Amino acid sequence: MKHPKTERTLVIIKPDGVQRGLIGEIIRRYEQSGLKLVGLKMVVPTKDFIEKHYLINPEWRRITGEKTIESYRKNGKKPPSDDPIKVTEVILNNLKKYLSSGPVVAMVWQGMHAVGIVRKITGGTEPLTSDVGTIRGDLTIDSYEVSDVDGRAVRNLIHASGTPEEAEAEIPLWFSEKELLNYRLISEAILYDVNLDGILE
Ligand code: ATP
Ligand code: MG
Repeated sequence: MKHPKTERTLVIIKPDGVQRGLIGEIIRRYEQSGLKLVGLKMVVPTKDFIEKHYLINPEWRRITGEKTIESYRKNGKKPPSDDPIKVTEVILNNLKKYLSSGPVVAMVWQGMHAVGIVRKITGGTEPLTSDVGTIRGDLTIDSYEVSDVDGRAVRNLIHASGTPEEAEAEIPLWFSEKELLNYRLISEAILYDVNLDGILE
């Protein structure tokens, strides 16, 4: 079994994060968690690339559609369609426009529970309802309702892999093997060493 400290996750700072001047603040939050940055670059993705990215998980269309329909119902509103696949078709088109509109920052973070820790720090998909203290909850203001009326994707600053399996599929799409660095951070000792015998002189 691989050591838990080798878990990796993909994070994308979306074009609104870059344009709002939040690159530094967002990186700070992940960095302070204790996770290790092992890959970093700035790119302008094409629409085809974004489609590939989202469709890499064969369940994504269904899950995203169901999540959206449930959110409409919870708010006492009628969803645009009862078919999750149809709902996601519109979302995917809007996402392609949104994410190819300008530079994004792509990163790979590594460490124990990297996927879960990053999702927690990032917050829920819809900024209106994502928790206070999270990136999406603190630093932006969008909602499903307004984005749907305007016919655009929810602008929520970040993409973060949903599961370790999703991360393992997404990372090679964005980074070549040699763009991901293997190195030790001094601070990892206090997170992972079992005996902590290197501190006292
Ligand atoms: P991401 O995958 O970007 O980290 P997520 O996993 O929280 O976000 P998904 O359900 O995978 O959310 O949706 C991907 C992205 O699509 C969201 O981040 C958001 O920008 C957009 N999106 C999702 N659902 C909707 C919706 N109902 N209306 C508008 N945009 C949406
Ligand atoms: Mg997702």
